[in-house]
Amino acid sequence: MKKIVILGAGFSSLSAANYLAQMGYKVKILEKNNLIGGRANVLKREGFTFDMGPTFYWMPDVFDKFFQDFGKKPSDYYTLTQLIPSYRIYFGSQDYIDNYADIPRMKETFEAIDPGSGQRFERFMTNAKKNYDIAIKDLVYQPGESIFELVTLDAALKLDEFVKTIRYDAKQVSSNPKIQKIIEFPILFLGATPSNTPMFYNFMNYADIGLGTWHPKGGMHQVALAMKDLAISQGVEIQTGEAALEIVIEQNLVTKVRTEKGTYDCDILLSGADYAHTEALMPEKYRQYTQNYWNQRALAPSAMLFYVGFEGKIPEMIHHSLFFDSDFEQHIAAIYTNKSWPTAPLFYTSFPSMSDDTVAPQGKEAGIFLIPIATDIDQDKSNPKDYLDEIFRRIHENTGIDLREKVIFYEYFGIRDFQNVYHSLRGNAYGLANTLLQTHILRPRLKSKKVNNMYFSGQLTVPGPGVPPAIISGNIVSQLIKKYHP
Ligand SMILES: Cc1cc2nc3c(=O)[nH]c(=O)nc-3n(C[C@H](O)[C@H](O)[C@H](O)COP(=O)(O)OP(=O)(O)OC[C@H]3O[C@@H](n4cnc5c(N)ncnc54)[C@H](O)[C@@H]3O)c2cc1C
Repeated sequence: MKKIVILGAGFSSLSAANYLAQMGYKVKILEKNNLIGGRANVLKREGFTFDMGPTFYWMPDVFDKFFQDFGKKPSDYYTLTQLIPSYRIYFGSQDYIDNYADIPRMKETFEAIDPGSGQRFERFMTNAKKNYDIAIKDLVYQPGESIFELVTLDAALKLDEFVKTIRYDAKQVSSNPKIQKIIEFPILFLGATPSNTPMFYNFMNYADIGLGTWHPKGGMHQVALAMKDLAISQGVEIQTGEAALEIVIEQNLVTKVRTEKGTYDCDILLSGADYAHTEALMPEKYRQYTQNYWNQRALAPSAMLFYVGFEGKIPEMIHHSLFFDSDFEQHIAAIYTNKSWPTAPLFYTSFPSMSDDTVAPQGKEAGIFLIPIATDIDQDKSNPKDYLDEIFRRIHENTGIDLREKVIFYEYFGIRDFQNVYHSLRGNAYGLANTLLQTHILRPRLKSKKVNNMYFSGQLTVPGPGVPPAIISGNIVSQLIKKYHP
């Protein structure tokens, strides 16, 4: 039985571990942190439970497929609820639109704002669905080994959609800025901007308005626990609190991984830890990408995150909200062009306790707040508390609710934490952006070109950022391993 060591216990590693164990490999996971789940980390304090990373459960079909591949279903492990509405977008004081996973309803909403846009939106969604089907059927489960993987008839007919951008596409639906922002929002999940993301990625709009936003009871960490339980039932060993410190390579083959606690022999090594960090654990001549290469990649943003326990309920808010009440372009420039601390940033709020009574004590509310920020910026040049105050000020301005007096405690997680806790490249929150020049074969490879038994998975490789792509990444890397090391 071939021995595989996997670094990290994020979604991509857990997914790969399950597939590889099913294929008959002996799998051991070494995870640096004390908890599994990677970015889907969890903070527990005073009876509150906060998802520290992902909070949107999108593309339920990908989770269904994963569990089905093992004769299971998500409901064997966790309870899912669809959020209705999916989320709210604020544009100013008492000025908001609720987003529903309901195309006719959203068509009516758009039509009321900009007559004529409803029908264009409907056509847009028909195309977004087509692209979703092509992406899921033909593209995202490809390993990115060759450009010919993209040469399917359906994909070839869509070539112009890889040249035009999401911004262009949104403008075809309406010139109204609110409608454009609603259409552009899902792209932010890919870590890129609407003006540099191919129009083909409008399949994310189908994920949003076609398939809906779901919530696993207890939070996203429950999904990672489910995948862990499945892995253990298949004989996978998981050691937490054990970071790989060195990857030993002899004659182009990884032979061992060293940690503080021991040395582990392996026939194959797979790393789901951040790609650049993993390569830094190897002798320089075996690294495929230079520091300069990594410095030049367009990364998904970093983030300022606040986890807040509130006294009392806050019925005026809903589970997920986006505050797009300030200048979108100025914030995007601060993230991608100027690399500066933003003034008047857009932000996201989540109150999971509004639809899940397990994540806050009775009569209290758990709040999660996120501001996307540039990678690489100096944490010491900002005061997180000022940003939390700005969030509370803007919530007050937009909704009339004063949250400040309800705060029991808050905890902060920022760019330096991403680096220390996850060994994140330049402090990225969720990997390498899916821009045109960083798609498919143009992303860091799943299989090392220099070390014959070394593989990578996760959000810096194929297909890209997000929980569903991480799960898919684990699937495709396990098939590559089977192909080259049966
Ligand atoms: C704040 C935030 C919000 C997000 N929101 C969403 C969302 O709503 N929906 C969505 O779908 N996606 C979301 N994402 C993205 C999604 O969470 C990630 O893309 C996905 O979880 C990444 O999984 P992964 O397996 O690639 O990597 P990770 O989760 O980063 O796992 C890598 C693991 O490797 C470990 N590791 C690092 N170095 C070593 C070492 N030397 N030895 C051993 N282990 C090591 C790390 O500790 C980590 O556990 C969000 C991410 C963040 C940070």
